[in-house]
This record gives sequence, C-alpha cells and structure tokens, in this order.
Amino acid sequence: MSKPGRHFLHIPGPTNVPDRVLRAMDRALIDHRGPEFAQLTLRLLPRLQKLFKCSGPVVIYPASGTGAWEAALVNTLSPGDKVLMADIGHFASLWKDMADRLGLEAEFLPSDWRRAADPEAIRDRLAADTGHEIKAVCVVHNETSTGCAARLPEIRRAIDDVGHPALFMVDTISSLGSMDYRHDEWKVDVSVGGSQKGMMLPPGMSFNAISQKALDASKTARLPKCYWEWNDMLSANQNGFFPYTPATNLFYALDEALTIIEEQGLDNIIARHERHAEATRRAVHAWGLELVCADPREYSSSLTSIFVPEGYSANALRAQILENFDLSLGTGLARLADRVFRIGHLGDLNDLTLIGAISGVEMGLKIAGIPHNAGGTQAAMDFLAGAEQAEETAP
Ligand code: PLP
Repeated sequence: MSKPGRHFLHIPGPTNVPDRVLRAMDRALIDHRGPEFAQLTLRLLPRLQKLFKCSGPVVIYPASGTGAWEAALVNTLSPGDKVLMADIGHFASLWKDMADRLGLEAEFLPSDWRRAADPEAIRDRLAADTGHEIKAVCVVHNETSTGCAARLPEIRRAIDDVGHPALFMVDTISSLGSMDYRHDEWKVDVSVGGSQKGMMLPPGMSFNAISQKALDASKTARLPKCYWEWNDMLSANQNGFFPYTPATNLFYALDEALTIIEEQGLDNIIARHERHAEATRRAVHAWGLELVCADPREYSSSLTSIFVPEGYSANALRAQILENFDLSLGTGLARLADRVFRIGHLGDLNDLTLIGAISGVEMGLKIAGIPHNAGGTQAAMDFLAGAEQAEETAP
C-alpha cells in the first residue's frame, strides 16, 4: 500500500540522496570511451582529492565499499603477510575475515565492541614487533555497527612513536564527507571510501586514496588481483578513462554531490554532523537509554547506536517505528542483533529532518512499551535551538 509523505530514511547508509543529485543522474548514457566522459572524469579526480585531503591518486571502482577494502589489501600485500586489525565491530570483523580469506595472517586486537581501535594497544603490539613482520595496520575509522570513531591522529602517533614501517590503511566509508578526515596529514597509505553515506550518493561506487608508500608497496605485492589492479586504473585514468566500464551515470551524481559539498563547505558539513550527533545523544540521555559507544572521545558524528533495555527487542521497536511512522532505523548487527538500534544522521539532512526522526523514535518507544523517560525530543530541540541562538549572536 502506498504511504503518504516522504519516507524517513535514517539508517547509517545508504543515506538520502538530494533531489539535485537524483536529477543529475537522470541523463542519457554517453560513450565511456569518448571525450565528454574523459572530461567528466578529469573534473572529478582533483575534487575527490580535496575530499580525502590527499595529494596522491584516488581511484574509483564501480563496486560497493567491500570491493575497495579488497583493493586496498590485494594491491599492497603478499600471501602470508601479517596485518594488525582491531575487533571493534561488525565491519572490522568483515574486513578481518576478508584478510583471512585472501591468505593474509590477520591479528585481531580484542575489544568489547563499545569503543574504537585503541591507540595504546596498537603502540604496544607494534613495539613488540621488533622484526617488523606486521606489514599493515588496518583501522575502521567510524565503526558503523557501534557508532564509535577511532582517534586516528593518536593511532598515527602510536605507529610513528615506535618507528614501525607498517602501512596504515583506514576505512572511511561512513566518515568521509561527514567527519573530519585527513589522508595526507595523518599519513594514511590507503583510505577506503564508499559512495552511499556522507557522500550523498546511491551505492555502487567506492574509492581508494593512495599514498606514494602504498604505490611503492604495490610494485612488489604478490596477492593475486585483476579487477582491483591500481596500475591499470591509474594509467587509464591519466586520460580520463577506465580499464573497464565505469558506473557512468553515477559520475554525474558524483559531480553534483561534490558541487553541493563545495557550496556548503566541508568544514560546515562536519560541524553540522557534530551538532546533529550531539542533539541525538541528548535525546538518548533524556530517554534514559544507553549508548553503545562507551568513550565520549570516540562518539561518532554520523550515527548513534543505542541499546534497548535488557529483555526488550530492538527489532520489534524498529518494526513498530517503520509501521507507524515510515521511519527506517539501522538494525543491530552480528552480536548486537536485536539489542541495539541505530539512528543514522549523516548526509543530506537538516535540523527538522533530525527532529522528525528523533520524535519518531520517542513515539515508537512508547508504542513498543519500552521503559524510557519522556522528553528526549524536547532535549534535542532545546539543544538545536540553543546552539542556533549562540550562532546568531556570535559577532
Ligand atoms: N565499512 C564500513 C564502516 C561500513 O559501514 C560498510 C557498509 O556499511 C562497509 C565497510 C561495507 O561496505 P559495502 O556494504 O558498501 O560493501
């Protein structure tokens, strides 16, 4: 049955695609080996570098984020290489599983899925690796299953402090375009991005931003690869082309989404995400519910993961909210299944969209009979209104 009004999509990706971006894609196909397409590619690549804050190349894959994860590993590593990862959530676990399946030896630093990768634990492990057997440290910046964000500058410092030569690879799939991210400054060797979250695009494109050190490593890396081969990409990209068929119409969408980011300003977008995340946390605190992220230094700005009280079903809550208010929330993943729900607040949204989502959650808590205090929506509104006033009165 059709429903009135617009669907409220508040999963932490795919996110709402602005109408402008949808319209931009709605174009007749063109020749991906022709001059118009080459010009489009060459217009996009330097603007992607600005988004990643990198000076080296960015490659674009017609694949979901998982493909770009694989590309990062197979282009830089050889069978049996040791990689250091942290067991901080569902996506970190999937990346680790991929490393194992590719024939790497992945070591998984333990954690309780309530915090991000620990800089101290990484420092200690690398310090003990005096033979430099660990070839890469792979970190998920923003763990989308828990809403915990890694302190990447501290992790970079931990690697440098012990003078370890490992490559630094970062999954920025749910942070790029919504949280502070600096590929060059943090000396990341491979950044892995995806289209469907902060970039406000449909799923289907993913990215590797690549350092010179990673390019050097790729010259001797022996893991088998074909589709993901950086070399083929980089040589074709020089003239604006691809070694195989790119997702041509998504390129128009990318062009328009980057224009929106440029118009709004990346710093403003990051500040807006921080503000929306804070408003959401205020609602959660007022409801008396518990955040999954246990360390305030690691709160994510792009999503908030919330426990339902013991003995209640997060999935039943989500189902009630979808049924009654046409609002989609993120499900709990893997060991957090049915214990948490996630509010995505990344991409194209404003204060009122956020308040709509938060009020939908508050009404849903009531309908589902989940013990909570009233007033979460009010707390979020008070914060947003207060913060707005402070901005207006600033000189
Ligand atoms: N890494 C993170 C942090 C994610 O959030 C996701 C997907 O949500 C992935 C990796 C996997 O990306 P994809 O589903 O696009 O393959």
